[in-house]
Amino acid sequence: MKVPYGKQTITQEDINAVVEVLKSDFLTQGPSVFKFEEEFAKAVGAKYAVAFCNATAALHTGFKALNKNTAKKVLVSSITFAASSNCVLYEGGEVEFVDIDPTSFNLDLNIIEEKLKADPNAYQGIIPVDFAGLPVDTEKLKEIADRYNLWIMEDACHAVGGGFFNSKNEFIQCGSGKYSDLTVFSFHPVKHIATGEGGMITTNSEEKYRHLLKLRSHGIERDEKLFKVASHGGWYHEMQELGFNYRMSDINAALGLSQLRHLKNNIEKRNAVAKTYKDFFSATGFSYQQYNDKKTVNAYHLFVIQTNKRRELYDFLKKKEIYTQVHYIPVHKHPYYQENGFKEVKLPHAENFYAKALSLPMYHGISEEELTYVLKMIESF
Ligand SMILES: *Cc1c(COP(=O)(O)O)cnc(C)c1O
Repeated sequence: MKVPYGKQTITQEDINAVVEVLKSDFLTQGPSVFKFEEEFAKAVGAKYAVAFCNATAALHTGFKALNKNTAKKVLVSSITFAASSNCVLYEGGEVEFVDIDPTSFNLDLNIIEEKLKADPNAYQGIIPVDFAGLPVDTEKLKEIADRYNLWIMEDACHAVGGGFFNSKNEFIQCGSGKYSDLTVFSFHPVKHIATGEGGMITTNSEEKYRHLLKLRSHGIERDEKLFKVASHGGWYHEMQELGFNYRMSDINAALGLSQLRHLKNNIEKRNAVAKTYKDFFSATGFSYQQYNDKKTVNAYHLFVIQTNKRRELYDFLKKKEIYTQVHYIPVHKHPYYQENGFKEVKLPHAENFYAKALSLPMYHGISEEELTYVLKMIESF
């Protein structure tokens, strides 16, 4: 039995939805993209959603839309996929990595506050990552960010369907834009919703929404009311800034739209799998570290344990055809970052976390049999 750490589930309904698009007039951005955006915004409680060809493109565009001054730094967690910080470098911006809180594995808000206090004018924004599906306390983060006039672009690639209860005990969904200027999601197949490649940004700002639409499509404006010079005729459009072709295709969007309908079940199933793991680990006394996930809905993109025998367990499980993974090598430790100014960076909690981290199989399509097999093999190890 082969068990990966993550995998998509494609239903016959999903297949039918894609086939419908292939028979239609639109293959590139068309009605399925607009419908997916509308339904996705509704699902996470945001006013606007903009689809992209992947989340890396979404992060890049999001940063371009938010960037005020490349001389001012952006605070990013180092325990994330490199795209979270690469998006700043694409535009010539400056990244400063923040250490994680050793219990939540999310960026440490106290460190952020200390940095801002020490140098209030050095920063322009924060990119928090809802690591493994555990939402960052963006209520507290926004309170800090507002004091220093910083924007927040939440990388919620792990956390679609997740959320937390704020200080008024209101449920705040990731992507609702209550405390984040922009929120970014990924539809890579290991994530909750698969579109092949795909990404989304949600926001409540109409201005940001319009800007993202323009940047997604070459920086071209087609709305006559927004032209810089008088229209030359019906064909006329203006390229007003240096944008991209980061559009999603209708083929991908149809798949996403169909997959979105399973999101609620998906999150429930992942939470049930997490509970099975937690019960197993507390019964066996295996050494691991667990989130305190009171007052949150964890979307459980990943289930990460901490073990001193990480390499041995990884190799042992691999021999049993259980393919675990490590999320993440701290971004500042990658050769590109080491060679480009991040050599002196020391983030003890992030580095200590990485030394022991292992992601166990976690996906909504995992069968009872597969999960039992994984537990049995960990136990035998
Ligand atoms: C997957 C992921 C991305 C990039 O997503 P793509 O859609 O593959 O470009 C960015 N940030 C985080 C935290 C991710 O997990």
